[in-house]
Amino acid sequence: MCNQFDSLRYVGKVTKILAVNSGSSSLKFKLFEMPSEAVIIEGDFERIGNKEARMRLKVRGIEKSDRFPIYTHVEAVELLIRALIDEKAIESYSEISGVGHRISHGGVYYKDAVLVNETVKSRILELGALSPLHNPVNLMGIEAFEKVLKDVKQVAIFDTSFHHTIPKENYIYALPYRYFEDYGIRRYGFHGPSHQYVSEEAIKIYPQAQKMITCHLGSGSSISAILNGQSIDSSMGFTPLAGLVMGTRTGDIDPQIIPFIQEKEGLTPREIKDLINKESGLLGISGFSNDLRDLENAAQNGNERAQLAIDVFVHQIVHYIGAYAAMLNGVGALVFTAGIGERSSLVRTKVCNALTYLGLAIDEAENKMNARVINTAQSKVKVFVIPTNEEVIIARDVVRVANI
Ligand code: ADP
Repeated sequence: MCNQFDSLRYVGKVTKILAVNSGSSSLKFKLFEMPSEAVIIEGDFERIGNKEARMRLKVRGIEKSDRFPIYTHVEAVELLIRALIDEKAIESYSEISGVGHRISHGGVYYKDAVLVNETVKSRILELGALSPLHNPVNLMGIEAFEKVLKDVKQVAIFDTSFHHTIPKENYIYALPYRYFEDYGIRRYGFHGPSHQYVSEEAIKIYPQAQKMITCHLGSGSSISAILNGQSIDSSMGFTPLAGLVMGTRTGDIDPQIIPFIQEKEGLTPREIKDLINKESGLLGISGFSNDLRDLENAAQNGNERAQLAIDVFVHQIVHYIGAYAAMLNGVGALVFTAGIGERSSLVRTKVCNALTYLGLAIDEAENKMNARVINTAQSKVKVFVIPTNEEVIIARDVVRVANI
């Protein structure tokens, strides 16, 4: 039965938006109903290019997994659309109003998400020079959807865009200036959708948080300094290699180490890239794992190198938080997110115990439970644990940019 308020209720257009993250042999997706932001179905493909590729789906809380030969991203997208229909997430292709793609590098071109056209595609490829592991495969994802869904609106959402507000003195490297002018060598910052999402969530909980530091700690890790909702610095730099110690990446090291090792061991540029991207970080220090859970277990059993890897990781986080607290001239809120940030109470304890000089104190019981707010009532800094949701930022951007 109608009541008197029904005529006043806004009935927005309900649409279905796919958020996609393509890797060289993987493709992750979430189908959102907008504007409710409900996730209808999510899943991923792994080992694309292989006859033992795997498709995983999560529908209404139930997980399913299947293996097929999948040789290309186009085949994966065809299987994905078929699965959406079989699972009754959509009735036909045309029900998908837009597809958003997470793209690693937007360079100086993209300060915001953008509707994909031929120029955007060629710039994504051109920016592959700055992000060779990601931009070309991100583009493959766009082209696969183009082939399968023909006229669907596609939007590119860049990891770098949220950081376009970083001021020049914070993004210029002290190299001869022509390298900035000729090749765009500067700090860009990454993990933008994650820092954006958690900072917006933190502001909802604590609107007074003008000065905020967000810590995305996962297999890749970065820290952002955020002033009035805008990024003013990022620990990642020209590439996602810079800043914190990561699963297999070095983070900051003295650049002179590179030619030194190169000369000592006669390594090629490719071998050096592999060394600093794939063999270093937590894996390099511990000698056996890039996974913090393994290191925490091993350290508990007395493994000294595992303990050292954790301590170096924490040291670097404390170092950046201190630098950003100084740069912001104070900090109102500290946010932890991503695999380690959301789930390692040990890392949060170690980091927060080094920040008592800020008047920051955490409640250990809340911290152990991964509660949303873990600071004590007396703490001068709010400390939040906020699960990241990069995909919802992508879905929102698709609706806004493609005007759906
Ligand atoms: P990505 O999405 O970049 O692959 P995640 O954000 O999932 O990475 O983070 C992966 C990291 O989170 C791994 O180092 C993993 O060990 C760590 N992690 C996940 N769960 C836990 C946990 N319960 N305790 C400690 N570390 C965890």
